[in-house]
Amino acid sequence: MTTENLNVLTSTQVVIKEALTKLGYPDEMYDLLKEPLRMLSVRIPVKMDDGKIKVFTGYRAQHNDAVGPTKGGVRFHPDVNEDEVKALSIWMSLKCGIVNLPYGGGKGGVICDPRTMSFGELERLSRGYVRGISQIVGPTKDIPAPDVMTNSQIMAWMMDEYSRIREFDAPGFITGKPIVLGGSQGRETATAKGVTIMIDQALKKRGIAVKDAKVAIQGFGNAGSYLAKMMHEAGAKVVGISDVHGALYDENGLDIEYLLDRRDSFGTVTKLFKNTISNKELLEQPCDILVPAAIENQITQDNADRIQAGIVVEAANGPTTLEATKILTERGILLVPDVLASAGGVVVSYFEWVQNNQGYYWTEEEVHAKLQDVMIQGFENVYSLHQTRNVDMRLAAYMVGVRKMAEAARFRGWI
Ligand code: GLU
Repeated sequence: MTTENLNVLTSTQVVIKEALTKLGYPDEMYDLLKEPLRMLSVRIPVKMDDGKIKVFTGYRAQHNDAVGPTKGGVRFHPDVNEDEVKALSIWMSLKCGIVNLPYGGGKGGVICDPRTMSFGELERLSRGYVRGISQIVGPTKDIPAPDVMTNSQIMAWMMDEYSRIREFDAPGFITGKPIVLGGSQGRETATAKGVTIMIDQALKKRGIAVKDAKVAIQGFGNAGSYLAKMMHEAGAKVVGISDVHGALYDENGLDIEYLLDRRDSFGTVTKLFKNTISNKELLEQPCDILVPAAIENQITQDNADRIQAGIVVEAANGPTTLEATKILTERGILLVPDVLASAGGVVVSYFEWVQNNQGYYWTEEEVHAKLQDVMIQGFENVYSLHQTRNVDMRLAAYMVGVRKMAEAARFRGWI
């Protein structure tokens, strides 16, 4: 069987097993870590604007709480499914391990399409989801956050609902909140900022200056659009961007300020242009750095041979299949895997939770300086293991990520 046809959960399990074997853990450790410890499925009745009731399905997965409370976002998307939520919770554990946060991984999702829902319907759905999962979450148990198509307003409703249920103010229940409700400076842009720090490190390894670098970014959502802005401001040439409808490419650089200005709140902008190319075509255009910042399974064994970038930095979760990882590695392309590259969001979420717990808030500069230190340390740990153990960057990241939780489980006497 090739690994190409595996779903996100089974392909994650393949790498977890490989990482644990390389680290010398027994099979029981794999048995413990291959699935979340807890997976809750909830049905959420919501009164829609037309007066009818619609019942939505939501999930919350808690992968492992040996290290500390579980942590991870909640996505609102029509394609949410159990296996994806489980895989995403494992990836959260890995991210937290790589950047050394005192958390295990968690993840949630609701099957819905926010693009077709009103503000009021979204509020009632967000509150209903919190009522559904309230028994298993909390500031010292499991701390949700934003993810695909959820934002600080949704976090505010969720925090308010949780505080009402518990009858005390609980800002540390959720992160990614608006600043006035205990959100952190720099959280909104944290994933993109983390990716730029990873790009800097990768460029250093390859001896390329930022101002000479051409970047193509797939996806113009929260991560992709802020990243385009930051790379443009750092002097790089952003040659490609895309949204769900298509992509724009110009080897001389795109007018990023104009595109940001015209982008709608769901990150679409290409509809305004005639000469677009497809998302698939964008991946194969000439550039130095390719950043998949959209959805899963974009770089596969079918197109990995045609990627022209020397560096691939995964800002999305799971954009490259395992077969494609092999092909890119053999071709000498430096891959910064998702569980490392996209960890900036959860790092600043952790800072937000720390600030909520201490009731004392940091400046944006402090947040950025701390984020920079944590991400560079994570990169160095993964890169040096990749070199000393001669394993690809994804396996190296999994080895670094899984080690802390396996050790914590061992010290607790679970295995
Ligand atoms: N949803 C983001 C992620 O996948 C952030 C999670 C968090 O901040 O807890 O990393």
